Amino acid sequence: MNLHEYQGKEILNTFGVRIQRGIVADNHKGAVDAAKQLTAETGTEWYVVKAQVHAGGRGKGGGVKLAKNLEEVETISDQIIGMNLVTPQTSAEGKKVNQVLIAEDVYYPGDSEPEEYYMSVLLNRATGRNMIMYSTEGGMDIETVAEETPHLIFTEEIDPLAGLQPFQARKIAFNLGLSGAAFKEMTKFVTALYNAYVGIDASLFEINPVLKTSDDKVLAVDAKVTLDDNALYRHKNYAELRDLREENPIEVEANAAGLNYVALDGNVGCMVNGAGLAMGTMDLIKQAGGDPANFLDVGGTADAKRVETAFRIILKDPKVKAILVNIFGGIVRCDRVAQGIVDAYKNMGDDINVPLIVRLQGTNAKEAKELIDASGLAVHSVVEFQEAADKVQEVLS
Ligand code: GDP
Ligand code: MN
Repeated sequence: MNLHEYQGKEILNTFGVRIQRGIVADNHKGAVDAAKQLTAETGTEWYVVKAQVHAGGRGKGGGVKLAKNLEEVETISDQIIGMNLVTPQTSAEGKKVNQVLIAEDVYYPGDSEPEEYYMSVLLNRATGRNMIMYSTEGGMDIETVAEETPHLIFTEEIDPLAGLQPFQARKIAFNLGLSGAAFKEMTKFVTALYNAYVGIDASLFEINPVLKTSDDKVLAVDAKVTLDDNALYRHKNYAELRDLREENPIEVEANAAGLNYVALDGNVGCMVNGAGLAMGTMDLIKQAGGDPANFLDVGGTADAKRVETAFRIILKDPKVKAILVNIFGGIVRCDRVAQGIVDAYKNMGDDINVPLIVRLQGTNAKEAKELIDASGLAVHSVVEFQEAADKVQEVLS
């Protein structure tokens, strides 16, 4: 689960990570109130208006702007709230902005050398350990740094039993070229950041930039926080941080129905059991020259109710021009799945308005095919995997 910048920063703050402070608002009047309150709390005179969407690169897309007085806060907020923000990390249509964060300007005017660093905490899946990735080249996209100057990216792996050691925090501050008060500030920052990562069961922190001000404060100016979904049950209070407006509505509905669904760009709807077979099915569709519209693992039980729910979800995507059902009957018997498909189809009638290709293999596959063929429904029943993919191409052409 992804969090907004303002939510991530609030959590970091509770763990003692210094942050650029801000108050969120969902309209331009509220933005002005937020700015006034922020000045009362921090004394700031300038503000940064920051679009809150689940995508990075907002600055490049015009979603992060400096405001030097309350009038500018109002006009800029009015302009950003409601806009479709297009960044290098969104689709071409962009993401609708519902909220802005009114943040204190932490880049002091006339500051000769504000330093921006990059820092992330994430799981290194190869070693099974958390690591801190950091660089002196903050503020720009880390992908470019990785490509052009990979020697400027450092990593520090953390032993899961021992935790982050003080010498590791010092090494990070040293590699970032810090000394004196800034050095101490950075070791505190890194330690608090790592504690937060472990404490909330995060799967990713990305703080870009981490800012060192000219008076040697170290703080998080941005925060991308992803929580580990598998650990959410341990943090029930975080459920309210979920912003469904940021997610694909069909995925939200599918997940609520207990289906493992991921929307894609193609036109072939897929209904498959098992994640591995689903991946294989998508590959085969691609190889045959097609393009999958989704990944969908219906799981172990494929009864009529579940099949119908899956069909309805697949068909919500207007790009879908054909549906391929590819089910392997291991524990679940193919004839039961076939009966589920027939019942669902009969129940849905004209709601199924695209060709349906069904491949059922495994236990009772023969009975399943007979059942479908005898149903009189307009279903293309096939046996071989390749045949299924080719049939999809045939009905689409
Ligand atoms: P992103 O573009 O989505 O990564 O959003 P960020 O929160 O990283 O902000 C983008 C850029 O805005 C940063 O790299 C900074 O250069 C700039 N920025 C952020 N906060 C401030 C601020 O308080 N003052 C000034 N002058 N610039 C800021
Ligand atoms: Mn950033």
